[in-house]
Amino acid sequence: MAAGVLTIEDDPDIRLLLRTMLGREGYSVSEAQTGREGLRAFHETRPDVVILDLGLPDLDGWQVLERIRDMSDAPVLVLTARSSEADKVRGLNAGADDYLTKPFSHVELLARLQAIRRRRPVPAPARPSFDDGRIRVDFVRWQAYLDDTPVELTPVEYRLLSALVRHAGQVLSADQLVQMAWDEHAGLGPERVKYAVLRLRRKLGWESATSPLRTVRGFGYRYEPLR
Ligand code: CA
Repeated sequence: MAAGVLTIEDDPDIRLLLRTMLGREGYSVSEAQTGREGLRAFHETRPDVVILDLGLPDLDGWQVLERIRDMSDAPVLVLTARSSEADKVRGLNAGADDYLTKPFSHVELLARLQAIRRRRPVPAPARPSFDDGRIRVDFVRWQAYLDDTPVELTPVEYRLLSALVRHAGQVLSADQLVQMAWDEHAGLGPERVKYAVLRLRRKLGWESATSPLRTVRGFGYRYEPLR
């Protein structure tokens, strides 16, 4: 069976180029032009490998990568015009398997695709859950538990909590949380994050001054892990 590759890229010329060269190599190619469309296509087609552009019109490529990693361990090749070393390190830390800057050589792209597919003989969820003995977040089922009891959260609250526990011990700014937890960012300010955090604390029973979901005045929010 042909290996499935999903390209998430808003530039029609590059999509056409990828479609042509990957098709010629025997890949079965599906395409998306935006981050959201890409996530939907990922869900539907379950590709063997993803080529992800970072500069997308709706969701940022980083967010797309994070959500793909919530669902699966499928290899992801990040393709981008950004070429700083910091971006590359960030991409690899965020769970990308490889990183290629535009303009890229066809031969190199194909070689890297093959390499990252070979590197993953046994698919296993990278980080299927977070559990510090106080709260458990199952990133595959998109469900949080307190003492084994499921907590009913809205999608935004769930993503807020996931972002905070994934970065446990680190401060995330309101801006970063907006990027990570909301689909539409336009016009969303720190107040929205503040109220969403308040609601989340209430649902988790973490309203006291010693709440593990800390407000770091002037900086943002931090989840303080139990261990
Ligand atoms: Ca782009």
